[in-house]
Amino acid sequence: MPHVPLRRLLTFASLPFLLLALLIPASAANAAVAPDAAVAVPAAVRSCSSATPVASRPTLNYKDTGSCVKLMQQLLLNKAYKIGASAPTGNYLSGTKAAVLLFQKNNRLVADAVVGPKTWAVLASSKTPKFTSPVYLTFDDCPSGSTSTAARTASNTTLKTARDLGMHLRLYVTGDCLKAKRFDVAYARQMGHTVCSHTNTHPELTKLTLSQIKAELQIPGLTTNCARPPYGAVNTTVRTAFSQLGYRLDLWNVDTNDWRGKTQTEVTNYVIANARPGDVVLMHMNHKAYNSSALKAIKAGLSKKSVNIK
Ligand SMILES: [Zn+2]
Repeated sequence: MPHVPLRRLLTFASLPFLLLALLIPASAANAAVAPDAAVAVPAAVRSCSSATPVASRPTLNYKDTGSCVKLMQQLLLNKAYKIGASAPTGNYLSGTKAAVLLFQKNNRLVADAVVGPKTWAVLASSKTPKFTSPVYLTFDDCPSGSTSTAARTASNTTLKTARDLGMHLRLYVTGDCLKAKRFDVAYARQMGHTVCSHTNTHPELTKLTLSQIKAELQIPGLTTNCARPPYGAVNTTVRTAFSQLGYRLDLWNVDTNDWRGKTQTEVTNYVIANARPGDVVLMHMNHKAYNSSALKAIKAGLSKKSVNIK
């Protein structure tokens, strides 16, 4: 680009704005603060293709334009992110910004909407993105209800709604719950859900002997290969019991604390705000989110964030 003294440039003030835009790329100021010295040329001037080495791609900021923005948008689309358009536009606007922020969050990058070397590297990675991992919704304990029939009927409605929403719930029931006929294992499995042991009487397993732990984990009438220890209490003896029984030890990493008197909305909003791909969300059948409307709200909220539920 020819060097044009500012004073001469001002005499062109009557020319269409387009000319000014060509001479002074909008992103010039942004490029000056870009952390990567190798990419001093503004995004709008530099050209990119999928063959451009990751290290040579310019840092992109909101409102940048050009083929490098187009490439970034294509990479997001490839990973099933919604950029606010069905095809790359070359304009880094709000739809793309939301996708970049979500991508950065999902990949535990600094979520600042600035596509620098680290974000480019993860975008370019051919590894299965974390994004495709689903969120696992899990419910412990036992459905509530004034009678066992009421509890079981309400539970079955929830299980069917979940199936209709394409959700595969993981349910950790106690032997006491099954004894009281408050949960229908056969129906849950018929609806495609996974039913695991949550012990017979819900004790803290770390306080028991190996043989006591094994007796607690095995629920009469429940054939399964997975269990969740109450309170997540685990020690070496508990792990030995699991491995001797051939049970998978299932814990969680997102705790809704639904049992602390939270409302349905508080629980569902917490899940929507905090569940990221691959997370296992802990809830309880006898608290506020084990019903059709809560599951619908979670599904809708996570879908909006392009997060799948397993
Ligand atoms: Zn429990």
